[in-house]
Amino acid sequence: MNLEKIMNDLEKKNPGEVEYLQAVREVLESIEEVYNENPQFESANIIERLVEPDRILTFKISWMDDSGKVHVNRGFRVQFNNAIGPYKGGLRFHPSVNLSILKFLGFEQIFKNSLTTLPMGGAKGGSDFDPKGKSNAEIMRFCQGFMMELWKIIGPETDVPAGDIGVGGREIGFLYGMYKKVARENSGVLTGKGLNWGGSLIRPEATGFGAVYFAKEMLATKKQTFEGKIVAVSGFGNVAWGAAQKATELGGKVVTISGPDGYIYDPDGISGEKIEYMLELRASNQDIVKPYSYEFPNAKFHQGKRPWEVKCDIALPCATQNELNKEDAQNLIKNGVFCIAEGANMPSTPEAVELFIEHKILFGPGKAVNAGGVATSGLEMSQNAMKLSWPLKEVDHRLHEIMCSIHESCVKYGKDKEGYVNYVKGANVAGFLKVANAMLDHGVI
Ligand code: GLU
Repeated sequence: MNLEKIMNDLEKKNPGEVEYLQAVREVLESIEEVYNENPQFESANIIERLVEPDRILTFKISWMDDSGKVHVNRGFRVQFNNAIGPYKGGLRFHPSVNLSILKFLGFEQIFKNSLTTLPMGGAKGGSDFDPKGKSNAEIMRFCQGFMMELWKIIGPETDVPAGDIGVGGREIGFLYGMYKKVARENSGVLTGKGLNWGGSLIRPEATGFGAVYFAKEMLATKKQTFEGKIVAVSGFGNVAWGAAQKATELGGKVVTISGPDGYIYDPDGISGEKIEYMLELRASNQDIVKPYSYEFPNAKFHQGKRPWEVKCDIALPCATQNELNKEDAQNLIKNGVFCIAEGANMPSTPEAVELFIEHKILFGPGKAVNAGGVATSGLEMSQNAMKLSWPLKEVDHRLHEIMCSIHESCVKYGKDKEGYVNYVKGANVAGFLKVANAMLDHGVI
């Protein structure tokens, strides 16, 4: 594999798509060795076929706000690869959404979904629509307009979208309502649905729970547990909420959460009603964490800062891509961190990842650590197909098993001669091999 030539060609073909190129480089660097050992991949030109999405749908959504003003947003669905199953991946509504971000997320999703052990291909979609400050009625009108375009290319056996940043239970409800009206079927095409209409227990908590289950396995390789550990979490959405719950349940003390406005440091620990308060903060649609410090006055709000400056044993970045840079990594290492598990997608910059690996710290990349969300979406699909609902214990048990199996795959392909597990390499190689072999089986299509 001539990595630099591939990357140069890709840069020319996809100018300015920084996040997408970052995600591709990380995967190619990890798989170079196994790719070169298996000439059948090169003969079938697997790399060039893998980095090009199968198709991308771009569309316009015109919608009217409560004052009668008309707005226009851009919508996307990137169907990246369906070698091992129907396209599967979330929808993100955030002003930062563009094609580069959705291509990076869709590309990551291919390997993440492959790691889950379930038959799901990779996709991602969304819009530059900003839910911040919007009324319920505005969100509903926007979701309906979005689905009037999207429904044409999705279906329970073709492409199964879900939530991501800015798309939670409420949005999935509005999207699903319009889908079933226009598609005239009720087969559960979206995941993350409400419990009364085909949703799965544990799905809201799954990404955060799964991240902590994965971190638990990483800690066990060093004969460590969450008990008594100080845990720094970023974000205050669904993932951070689930992670804080499970980390607390396992005996950890969560001391931070963060938003675009800054971070909260709560020396008493963020547990019980404080974790539930995160849901209230999120539901306010304001995208700020400062009000936590009014509600719980022992906590301190640090304006415009990220939580990586606090002393902690375990760090769980659960906010968004590239939220933890080299300087943050240096701070964490200086303060004695020994485990980082990424609840978000690609939250650490490549320079930060390099530092963690160089210092032989337990570092779990997003595509392995946060795969519990999409895995439980896969379990929701199974339940929908069987027209039944599994009890909480069963879903949680399956999620736990899946996270342990992802951890095992990472160790299998990521352990070096000295016994250090490079989870980035392990996750990429394990995810890649399954997809690449399936592509070989299917011929040139
Ligand atoms: N958006 C989540 C992710 O990044 C979940 C996707 C899904 O459930 O399809 O994996």
